[in-house]
Amino acid sequence: MWEYAPAPESRDIANLKPTYRMFVDGQFVEGAGEPLKTVNPGTEEVLAEVSTAAPADVDKAVKAARRAYDRVWGKMPGSERAKYIFRIARLIQERGRELAVLESLDNGKPIKESRDVDVPTAAAHFFYHAGWADKLGYAGYGPDPKPLGVAGQVIPWNFPLLMAAWKIAPALACGNTVVLKPAETTPLTALVLAEIIQQADLPPGVVNILPGAGDVGAAVTSHPDVDKVAFTGSTEVGKLIQRQLAGTGRKLTLELGGKAANIVFDDAPLDQAVEGIVNGIFFNQGHVCCAGSRLLVQESVAEELLEKLRVRVSTLRVGDPLDKNTDVGAINSREQLTKIQQLVETGDAEGAERWTSACPLPDKGFYFAPTVFSNVSQAMRIAREEIFGPVLSVLTFRTPDEAVAKANNTPYGLSAGIWTEKGSRILWAAQKMRAGVVWANTFNRFDPTAPFGGYQESGFGREGGRTGLEAYLDV
Ligand code: NAP
Ligand code: MG
Repeated sequence: MWEYAPAPESRDIANLKPTYRMFVDGQFVEGAGEPLKTVNPGTEEVLAEVSTAAPADVDKAVKAARRAYDRVWGKMPGSERAKYIFRIARLIQERGRELAVLESLDNGKPIKESRDVDVPTAAAHFFYHAGWADKLGYAGYGPDPKPLGVAGQVIPWNFPLLMAAWKIAPALACGNTVVLKPAETTPLTALVLAEIIQQADLPPGVVNILPGAGDVGAAVTSHPDVDKVAFTGSTEVGKLIQRQLAGTGRKLTLELGGKAANIVFDDAPLDQAVEGIVNGIFFNQGHVCCAGSRLLVQESVAEELLEKLRVRVSTLRVGDPLDKNTDVGAINSREQLTKIQQLVETGDAEGAERWTSACPLPDKGFYFAPTVFSNVSQAMRIAREEIFGPVLSVLTFRTPDEAVAKANNTPYGLSAGIWTEKGSRILWAAQKMRAGVVWANTFNRFDPTAPFGGYQESGFGREGGRTGLEAYLDV
């Protein structure tokens, strides 16, 4: 194998500041909460100190959002709102390199992903929704659908900027105002997005961004003057929020975990499938709710496929997130690394066969080598629970019916993948999958025009596309 010389992206572009403040009513202000230190998971160094919100700050932010809704944003014509949202999209593009480097520093994901996926897709969400702002009357929700009011939004650490875009863009397009809490370990790009929102001259209070831990999230989601709650994160917290909101009449969408089946039939183009499997589980270190974490392979091709897969996974370069050659970056936090290690140990204990790439790992930082478990049975924890790391569980099947039964044997239902040369088999299997998104001969494709969301414990409601607008309209 060829050796690669290091090709690090310059971190100067990130314009990292020693301190960051929360964004309320159009201003960057100090929060009354205990400041948090955000860490670079690739090196374990502290990147910056970030002020956090106390409950009184959440209240201030909600009041600012309400004022902005009542006085300006809620009654502004869609064609005017669109101009602001287009401006945000263009500014994300202009500051794309800065955002990409900052995202890789704070989150640990490889620069080639933050640069080529997270940032452009975030911009695409604003462009797409800006286009809807003056066309809501043609979206199929009546001639003049109304916004809901103030949206309280809580997002996770796996796609910090992109999740902020997924949440904020449709809310604004439909005429709502926003109070958003980024994840505790990844607040930085959301705060640069706040700068962009200020640069785009949005009226004060239309978007408010409050860093902090879970308690700040809970204060946002349970605030009585929030009309709509949107949450992406764990099923556990999602259930908690659902209980909080039961009976309040407030609208809720939940985008929770997953344990997606990626099914390879015996007629699939195996080399192409291997690329899709790798992308399905090692993209973003496997910190992906729709990751293809359960590989189902038809028995007759299982051995051949596994051999090809191990060879391919051995070539993945794990290390410095800022190196342009890095395929797999750092695990976002020590806590998440521990969770992955513990689940992997249950795989060993329950008798699965573990194969781990022999790639070297950096001495400092949170890293986990790409791992493939074979001989996995459906009852094992590594086949049922979300590992949220670079760990693949491989099961086999004999008949298409068995593949479908195994794929659907999960409390989740967010995504699925199908690999086969036969178009008829794709249509047959896709219809039988109980999953919100089904990919055929590809995986982890994201597009703002395509609705995304789950069934069962993966949550409810859709984000993206025409369908996604429904969550932010009074319909
Ligand atoms: P999490 O606790 O559900 O965190 C998601 C967001 O909710 C974060 O901003 C979090 O704040 C906030 N939060 C925590 N407790 C809350 C509460 N009671 N009310 C309102 N908001 C609250 O998820 P996590 O701890 O980051 O990860 C745990 C597991 O969830 C992962 O291992 C993975 O399996 C799953 N997960 C799924 C997704 C997804 O995209 N579906 C994303 C991330 C994680 P803090 O940042 O302070 O915790
Ligand atoms: Mg961090």
